[in-house]
Amino acid sequence: MNIDYADRIKQLPPYLFEEIDKAKRDAIKEGRPIIDLGVGDPDTPTPDFIVKKLQEAVMDPSTHTYALNRGLGVLREEMAVWYKRRFNVVLDPETEVLPLLGSKEGIAHVPLAFINPGEVVLVPSPGYPPYNSGSIFAGAKVHFMPLLKENNFLPDLESIDENVAKRAKIMHINYPNNPTGAVCDKPFYEKIIAFAKKHNIIVCSDAAYTEMSFDGYDPMSFMEVDGAKEVGVEFHSLSKTFNMTGWRVAMAVGNAEMLNGLAKVKANIDSGIFTAVQVAAIEALKNSEKIRDEMNAIYTKRRDILVEGLNAAGWNVTKPKATFYIWAPVFGGYDSFSLAKAILEKADIIVTPGNGFGESGEGYIRMALTVDKEEIVEVVKRVKKEFF
Ligand SMILES: *Cc1c(COP(=O)(O)O)cnc(C)c1O
Repeated sequence: MNIDYADRIKQLPPYLFEEIDKAKRDAIKEGRPIIDLGVGDPDTPTPDFIVKKLQEAVMDPSTHTYALNRGLGVLREEMAVWYKRRFNVVLDPETEVLPLLGSKEGIAHVPLAFINPGEVVLVPSPGYPPYNSGSIFAGAKVHFMPLLKENNFLPDLESIDENVAKRAKIMHINYPNNPTGAVCDKPFYEKIIAFAKKHNIIVCSDAAYTEMSFDGYDPMSFMEVDGAKEVGVEFHSLSKTFNMTGWRVAMAVGNAEMLNGLAKVKANIDSGIFTAVQVAAIEALKNSEKIRDEMNAIYTKRRDILVEGLNAAGWNVTKPKATFYIWAPVFGGYDSFSLAKAILEKADIIVTPGNGFGESGEGYIRMALTVDKEEIVEVVKRVKKEFF
């Protein structure tokens, strides 16, 4: 039979990593000593006390049934308590907190609640892929906002055409940022809020990396800023902070009416988070500061070894204040793709070409600090030997 994919599938951006993936599989097959800086997935296991809580909870048969769609009341309450303690943001756990099966799920589904075909979603480029793909699935027209070095990797709102702004219904922002490692400040959020109010745009702030920061820098929540709750929601995830990427637990917080829209979509797609995972998530949130400080000490060491080592070798790379990503400019006549390929072929190191996150990521490669410091020392050694 003739199987024809829907236009929404055909419209997805081409998968740029095919060739790199194949080179990676070949390298592994050949037994080469690969170091993988390609994936943004913590290499440290989930803390023991969280795993123990899950073990306990899973023994209780009452956790085995369909979960409540909006999550356990006690989980929503703990999420609200966490936002108050961490950011001094007050949320109503009944209406302003919505647990998610990972923030990717919420980000990908949110356009389905608000977008009619042809309406515009503003998406950062480079950016986390579901901002774009979720919008395509909802029939949106995506307008990319380039994140450029000369603007400190913040979108330039003034450069957005009046006609585009008029048709825009959602804007995605993400600070601390994947893949650039950039951070933003309160005046930036204030500008976003003013722009959103002027053009009636729903702001979706992705705060996955607020807990991963260094050198005393303390990222803020979009929700801390006056007017944020009027115009938007924020996605926060337990994935990166607690090394819980596989568990699938996150939340959206903020505007109750907007969350209601997302909840309506979800009620027709999923049936909530496994209750035992919710119970363990409560335990994680209660102990967030301790885990955060331990993990950030580890990432700071890795970051310093990598960035200082590469700079000493002759590769001009800046230290991010947050996230576990190094966004490094290409050199020596390479583009993003050819440099990533050369690094794999010559040095057996996997990095991600920047254009895989959108056209405006061309000219960069991304390295994730997700291997131990001994391997990072080895990365520096190999890069220096092969390229400088
Ligand atoms: C890792 C990451 C997330 C978290 O995704 P989950 O679905 O919660 O695991 C969200 N946004 C960005 C930009 C990320 O890099």
